[in-house]
Amino acid sequence: MSLQEIVEGQREFFRSGATRDLEWRREKLSRLEAVLMGKREEILECLAADLGKPGMEAFLAEYHFLLEEIRLVRKKLKGWLKKKRVSSPFYFWPCRSWIERHPFGVVLIMAPWNYPFQLSLSPLLAAIAAGNTVVLKPSELASQSERLISEIIEEVFAGQGAAVVTGGVEVAKGLLGEKFDFIFFTGSTAVGREVAEIAGRTLTPSLLELGGKCPCVVGPGADLVKSARRLVAGKLMNAGQTCFAPDFVLVEARVEEEFRQCLRDVLEEVSWDAEMAGIISERHVERLQGLCVGEVEQFGEDDLARRYLAPRLIAGVDWNHPAMKEEVFGPVLPVMTFGSEEDLLESLGKLESPLAVYCFSTEEDFVEKVTGSLPSGSLCVNDTMKQFSQLQLPLGGVGQSGSGRYRGRFGVEALSYEKSVTKRYFVGKDLMEMMPPYEKSFRWIKKFMR
Ligand code: NAD
Repeated sequence: MSLQEIVEGQREFFRSGATRDLEWRREKLSRLEAVLMGKREEILECLAADLGKPGMEAFLAEYHFLLEEIRLVRKKLKGWLKKKRVSSPFYFWPCRSWIERHPFGVVLIMAPWNYPFQLSLSPLLAAIAAGNTVVLKPSELASQSERLISEIIEEVFAGQGAAVVTGGVEVAKGLLGEKFDFIFFTGSTAVGREVAEIAGRTLTPSLLELGGKCPCVVGPGADLVKSARRLVAGKLMNAGQTCFAPDFVLVEARVEEEFRQCLRDVLEEVSWDAEMAGIISERHVERLQGLCVGEVEQFGEDDLARRYLAPRLIAGVDWNHPAMKEEVFGPVLPVMTFGSEEDLLESLGKLESPLAVYCFSTEEDFVEKVTGSLPSGSLCVNDTMKQFSQLQLPLGGVGQSGSGRYRGRFGVEALSYEKSVTKRYFVGKDLMEMMPPYEKSFRWIKKFMR
């Protein structure tokens, strides 16, 4: 089937009205849940093959996270979609007004490789719950996951409601040439910019989940041992290949030595080679190796045959260091220092708005100043990654890190739009008729409307 035929197939199904039925949506969510549960081991195996993801990470961050979201959305959907009654001005009486949620139509979802199941299927389930149909393009780089996602969607939908298109950049570009009613893109800022241009040109509503450099500030009052443990745990999840992972550290100069020792202690405590994911491709391994210049400390041996890169700290880093010129997206942690609060806030103020800011400090005033120094999609105080690992908080960036939010309720809201409805009745006399001659009603209006 051509791309055009695939998109048209989903458009026709949307037009049939089948997805308007709440029961159809719920049934598809249940079916997706059942198919995922039936393929649990296969999912974990694909993630191990593509990324060397440890079973525990794959289970929690991809498999179980999705099941939890499906269950939440299925349970709450009816309430979220309820019409919201609002009051109407008295001079429109008799009249009723409300807001109701409607699906956009056919949604294109483009996903990255780092959490291939979660970042394909979480937008998909939100789109289906909101009553859309979906064309999903997973990342070609996680090829085993791409194949299994395709099978899962075929088993749940059999082409009616959602379809998967597999392939690389050319296929992605081909898809962007088709007409969609909404584009949901997760990926790099560079490709996000191209997607935004297309969406702008075709006036297609879109949601962009992009990347960037998330700073981690270690400030006054921070418990250095706990901060180091929580920072390393977040950074090395999926070998640092998480969009909102702490990218680099800014630590008070007076405690830098002590803090680096705390980081070393954690990094030496664990056999990372047995417990950490690999890097997605050789190209990405080479890119990361290229960033590791200067005072690099490595913890364990690399195993390039399975694209495993041992964790690394880089000390003595300044803003001109290669690791500060792009998103690190790997198990490499540049450590920078700040002398005064003013210097810190000035540096933070120059950064592009990231998905997350991490701040370790017990001084609320300090945290507030850090937060106020740059816009960010989220803030996590005294830990890393916790803010986007729960379904009650929306996931999304601001400015360079993207626009729009999703997850649970926020996903259903993002993938539907609010329609304003007013209904009038054929009873009584119209209090205000906007019909010339205006003279009499204008006098009345001036009297009552001040
Ligand atoms: P990517 O932008 O290279 O690819 C994302 C998707 O776009 C893939 O499906 C790919 O096939 C497609 N694509 C690639 N090049 C394209 C082009 N020129 N035109 C059209 N489509 C194209 O991103 P990636 O390498 O898969 O993922 C890593 C990036 O994604 C990182 O920057 C990371 O921060 C970001 N990310 C963001 C989030 C978030 O929720 N904000 C989540 C995960 C990853």
